[in-house]
Amino acid sequence: MKTVTIIGGGLSGLCLGIGLRKRGVPVRVLEVGNYPRHKVCGEFLSGKGREVLAALGIESRLPDARTAEDVLFSLGARCTNVRELPAAALCISRWKMDAGLAEYFSELGGELVTSHRASIEAGEGIVRATGRRPQAEEGGWRLFGLKAHAFGVKLRAGLEMHFTSRGYVGLCAVEDGRVNVCGLFRSREPVAELARDWRLWLRGDPGSALQERLASAAWDESSFSSVAALGLAARTAALSGDMSVGDSVTMIPPVTGNGMSMAVESAAAAIDPLASWADGAVSWCEAQQTISARLNALFARRLRVAALVQRAVVHPTARRMLFWSVRAVPPLQSLLFKLTR
Ligand SMILES: Cc1cc2nc3c(=O)[nH]c(=O)nc-3n(C[C@H](O)[C@H](O)[C@H](O)COP(=O)(O)OP(=O)(O)OC[C@H]3O[C@@H](n4cnc5c(N)ncnc54)[C@H](O)[C@@H]3O)c2cc1C
Repeated sequence: MKTVTIIGGGLSGLCLGIGLRKRGVPVRVLEVGNYPRHKVCGEFLSGKGREVLAALGIESRLPDARTAEDVLFSLGARCTNVRELPAAALCISRWKMDAGLAEYFSELGGELVTSHRASIEAGEGIVRATGRRPQAEEGGWRLFGLKAHAFGVKLRAGLEMHFTSRGYVGLCAVEDGRVNVCGLFRSREPVAELARDWRLWLRGDPGSALQERLASAAWDESSFSSVAALGLAARTAALSGDMSVGDSVTMIPPVTGNGMSMAVESAAAAIDPLASWADGAVSWCEAQQTISARLNALFARRLRVAALVQRAVVHPTARRMLFWSVRAVPPLQSLLFKLTR
């Protein structure tokens, strides 16, 4: 059997590696970092990806994970009621999750090479799972993400999504009494001193429900992480020109809380075609075409809807209209949730 080499040992790369090992395929994962490690992520995994994690035997290996069953939204000092989510989400830190996946992959006989920056070249047998493709600006805006864990934060819902004048911040409880505080922000100008000012960004606007919620937060400074040069324009798999999974294909706006699910789902969609290639049953090109077609069919609708939602939540007037509509018409929130999954 031929070996599959996966560049990137994040969620998509490790899930793909695990799935292929379960099919007996030799797999090598090359990861530039180490485990465990913090990562910018809302750590709220919701959508069909949960079924994939269960089918791969992963969810049962994450005993510390919590579930989020309800949600509230806020704008300034106003909040919606707490409402049940159409489907419960899994909440666990990437610190624990990625390390757990890496351990499982190794147990299954996968070869994991850490502290190794691979050159990203398309080629037979190579799958790109390197995460987002950096993009300096989008429509004149610089997008960046910040994340830290806080203790002593009392939430009113499993997921709280707070819209601020500079972006949005999600809060959800993960393991060990930690609350994930993660935001996506935008700025016209380069933002200096983020390493110093990240708490100010994450706390939101004066007098807001978010600021009140985080008033007594005790931050785990070591959990702070940031990511810049985010690009949220949807891309189709066929156009990427190489074999990719996860954010390497395309990144869904984080406001949906569906990026991790897409990473896992894309990995699942690639398992059969790659196993067939490893067996010699299909060519690399055929495997790539099958995977691209599957990913485009899986993700087209949710990416379209997510782009509209993202555009609305960063525009002052549209953000207000969306908030008041969701507040007044609860089924709208469920509908948007379902359409982005
Ligand atoms: C602000 C923000 C909030 C988010 N919140 C949520 C949320 O609440 N829920 C949700 O579902 N999703 C969320 N996401 C999205 C989610 O984090 C991603 O969709 C998910 O991590 C994608 O997984 P991936 O495996 O494709 O990429 P990653 O998890 O980024 O993994 C890529 C891996 O590749 C490695 N790598 C990169 N280049 C190389 C190289 N050359 N050689 C070797 N290794 C390399 C990296 O070190 C990394 O480990 C959020 C994203 C942002 C920015």
